[in-house]
Amino acid sequence: MTPRVTLLPRKAQPFYARHPWVYPGAIAEVVGDPADGAEVDLYSSAGHFIARGLFNARSKIRVRLYCWQPGQALDHAFFAAACDRALRLRRDLLRLTGPESACRLIFSEGDGLSGMTVDQYGQWLCVQFTALGLAQRRDLIAQVLAEVVQPRGIYLRTERGIGSLEGLQVRDGLLWGEPPPDDLTIREGPLLFRVNLREGQKTGFYLDQRDNRQLVARLAVGRRVLDAFCYTGGFGLHAAAAGAESVECVDSSAAALELARLNAQLNGLTQRTQLVQADVFDHLDERVRQGRRYGLVVLDPPKFARSRSALPEALRGYRRLLSLALRLVEDDGVVVMCCCTGLVTRAMLEELLAQSAVDQRCWLQLLAATGQAPDHPVASSCPESNYLKCLVSRVSLTETSTRLSE
Ligand code: SAH
Repeated sequence: MTPRVTLLPRKAQPFYARHPWVYPGAIAEVVGDPADGAEVDLYSSAGHFIARGLFNARSKIRVRLYCWQPGQALDHAFFAAACDRALRLRRDLLRLTGPESACRLIFSEGDGLSGMTVDQYGQWLCVQFTALGLAQRRDLIAQVLAEVVQPRGIYLRTERGIGSLEGLQVRDGLLWGEPPPDDLTIREGPLLFRVNLREGQKTGFYLDQRDNRQLVARLAVGRRVLDAFCYTGGFGLHAAAAGAESVECVDSSAAALELARLNAQLNGLTQRTQLVQADVFDHLDERVRQGRRYGLVVLDPPKFARSRSALPEALRGYRRLLSLALRLVEDDGVVVMCCCTGLVTRAMLEELLAQSAVDQRCWLQLLAATGQAPDHPVASSCPESNYLKCLVSRVSLTETSTRLSE
């Protein structure tokens, strides 16, 4: 019989509502001695079946839930149906799949598969597991993906730090089919980007910013653009292609900038694009001292906090970036603030923006408040899947009469 996890009284509601994470604090009893990664059935304290999931005693998320139908095993048929549903969204509704296109095919909780992302880069897939139970089923999942998507190869990547969170030991490498070529290239809108699946960050390319790059490109025409935390040039190159006067791309990673250089060449954009290897905070400080001004500043920093205890420090980081950006932007300029830290809410970020405007004595008009591209869907049952915030503001530097002491 499938081992059972029984909840404490009054803890069942979120799981009936399909939240997929069961923390130890909600659990009354585990019966049947499940191994880490094994299937378990979740029951309410009154003895009613809620859902089937995978158990992991080494993770803070003790059970991840996948299926709300009693008796449904988490087998080939289950994963095939889940992958097919995910593929249909990208292929039939969003029309994001094609021989050179790239998109996120499976977005973890957003697609009901907590602990697994799959990105498609042309004919290759890149799989990342953040759940032990799914990582243990990697051969089955690769088989299913091979059947449903029919790629040329499937590559496995793991995120740093996840081993200790989940007790997960998997090595990066080819999971199925042919290895990806060194010059794997994808198309995003009018541009080509070289993607390095073996060593790139995350799974190679920040697909979640696809639509925000289009938005920024439209606003960049004729402007001097600063792309802070540029990685392989996503925002900056789209801005340059759209007709920015000049683009300065800054990142601390030499490897990322090397790819950015290649991408600028691939798209014939080297003339107007300057690449700078530096710490963004230092570089922006220096530009402020030099009195430089830009017509559009993009800030797309990495995740600043993984835990609640790191939140205050993260907020100080965002605040510092905003205050630098507001000192670098010209009158009528645009500041684009992105935040992928899940713990920082949209409301917190808007508050920071408003506060920074007061501090810097300027006036902001919010032009757009967007999130991640729709191939990273937000599950209504899991607000945590709504992680990316992007606030686009126009800045007016007109003097104000405000006295902060009054
Ligand atoms: N805007 C990018 C994605 C940015 S990811 C795109 O559209 O593709 C965040 C980037 O910040 C990474 O490339 C990382 O190397 C860089 N980074 C992290 N901390 C940094 C720092 N203090 N200074 C400069 N770059 C930093």
